[in-house]
Amino acid sequence: MTLALVLLLGAALISMAAPRMLGPLAATSVPPGVLLAAWLGSIAGALFFGASAVVTLAWPDHAPAETAVEAVVRCLSAVSHAMQPWITETLAATGALALLTITVRAVILGRRYTREQTRLLDYHRDVVSIVAHSRDDGVMWLAHPMPMAYSVAGRPGFVVATDGLSQCLSGSERDAVLAHERAHLRGSHHLIVTTCDILAAVLPAVPLFAAAPAAVKTLVELTADQHAARATSTATVCSALTVVSASTLPQPAGTLGLSNEISLRLLKLRVSWRTRCPKVSYATAAALSMAMPVATALVGLAATSAAVCLTLAQA
Ligand SMILES: [Zn+2]
Repeated sequence: MTLALVLLLGAALISMAAPRMLGPLAATSVPPGVLLAAWLGSIAGALFFGASAVVTLAWPDHAPAETAVEAVVRCLSAVSHAMQPWITETLAATGALALLTITVRAVILGRRYTREQTRLLDYHRDVVSIVAHSRDDGVMWLAHPMPMAYSVAGRPGFVVATDGLSQCLSGSERDAVLAHERAHLRGSHHLIVTTCDILAAVLPAVPLFAAAPAAVKTLVELTADQHAARATSTATVCSALTVVSASTLPQPAGTLGLSNEISLRLLKLRVSWRTRCPKVSYATAAALSMAMPVATALVGLAATSAAVCLTLAQA
């Protein structure tokens, strides 16, 4: 019971605090890849700890780690042990029902969303295959005077670009745009964005899941910009972004392109493109964003428990 309370509080804390803490960091010099890892860690943490709380409640005896947690939150544990068994059983049944409802909803909405997305992208792939005048190194070229490029998920994914890209941009600017789109494909950004969209549809009232799609879409753009800047230069990516953002061509649904949040992206390129992070920093950001709220919940409960014990002892 005590462990379940800690896990549930941790999940609630992640869901409420993560969007408020991570959102404003997008415009700072913190590398976008690290921020993206922190968002994904928060999402994984909220799901994992929320589900673990229900499993712990339903555990027949002391769940693993329950004894260690009870040692930290002694007074509260004594209260929970004194509770009638039917209270714990009712809480476990309610939690299991909520978890089952969320899982079923996620499966139904996920399948519907994925089916629709696959149908749309298959149709798009067929049309582009017909109208493209050439295919070169995973890029399908369309005869259109306006500059535009976007990436399409799939196995394999591919990049669509217009001849306007070569006509309106210099060779290095064109390479920067293509490097940006290839970074989306290499980083599985389409899958990350789709997963966030599905979770937002399943749990729209949870602040973390509601805020994640917009924040993550921006961060994958910033991350792809960093890759493009390393492949060419910051100045080249900035000038390419400026030219392509002026294009009036609409970007097809379900694809990742190049033309949103331009002012933020230009700012971010200037302040953080040189920052190279070892892979361990991404893992650390994800692990901290998962673990910190649960640790905070444990410390908060221990402090509250100790205060209650002291008050009761003095009374
Ligand atoms: Zn992009």
